[in-house]
Amino acid sequence: MSVWSWAVVVLLACLLAPPSAGAAVLLVQPQTLEPGQPALVRVCRTGKTSHARLSFAGREWRLWRGSDGCLYGVLPVDLGVRPGHYLLRIKDGSRQLAAARLAVRARDYGVRRITVDPKFMELTPEQLAWYKRDVAAIKAAYARTAAQRLWRGGFRRPLGGKVVGPFGRRSLINGQERSPHGGVDLRAKKGEPIRAVAAGRVVMLRDTFFGGKMIILDHGQALYSRYLHLSAALVRPGQKVARGQVIGRVGATGRVTGPHLHFDVRFGGARVDPLGWIKLSGRLAEMLGDK
Ligand SMILES: [Zn+2]
Repeated sequence: MSVWSWAVVVLLACLLAPPSAGAAVLLVQPQTLEPGQPALVRVCRTGKTSHARLSFAGREWRLWRGSDGCLYGVLPVDLGVRPGHYLLRIKDGSRQLAAARLAVRARDYGVRRITVDPKFMELTPEQLAWYKRDVAAIKAAYARTAAQRLWRGGFRRPLGGKVVGPFGRRSLINGQERSPHGGVDLRAKKGEPIRAVAAGRVVMLRDTFFGGKMIILDHGQALYSRYLHLSAALVRPGQKVARGQVIGRVGATGRVTGPHLHFDVRFGGARVDPLGWIKLSGRLAEMLGDK
């Protein structure tokens, strides 16, 4: 812990917490936030807490007790959060333990401009209905999460391939703005094994219109990973999986031009850079004393 420099964001004194609670110390790393980049949060000297949560930009996430007695959490700044200043609050029920005003600065992830025959832009009524069913199924999967943390230790990559589609890149198709890339595309050959990035449970396995064969893993407490365009799935819905377990094989199903793996991570509804998440999860595991 001591090797990395925590940036002291705020020393919160008596202003926001009752005097009996003492002064909680809140630290956030990195200090300046960016859309899509997760930050690590540490809160010390909170006294006894049972349900401490952090709230930011209209969403809430839980905190965990570290091996040093401090509380740790991840601030998963969603890719869609607009640059500006936001209040980070640490609460235990209705009691505020600490707060800090944090800046989110703009980050340019680049733009991809594609021109396609306009006829490929239009979906048939059947395709549109399929897509709408996918959206509902994915939403339902993201609403089913285990109350406990199912993972231990840092997350790993699902496979080794080079990034061919970076996280966050905007895409303009025939000049029309589409949603930015919410995950990473990893180069891989058809049939290559895909491994679970952390322990969890299969909450969705489905043939989707855009994403092809798709697996969603729930890692508990609203943390999910998702794997798209598979040629085969080697797990069943509801199945528990271990970190590193082969869950499927790379393919080119859905609307893609060739085989690759699209992989993404969501935490409490926030879309974060999966590679940034992997990095940060290792540090979090260290703080939590995960074996
Ligand atoms: Zn992708």
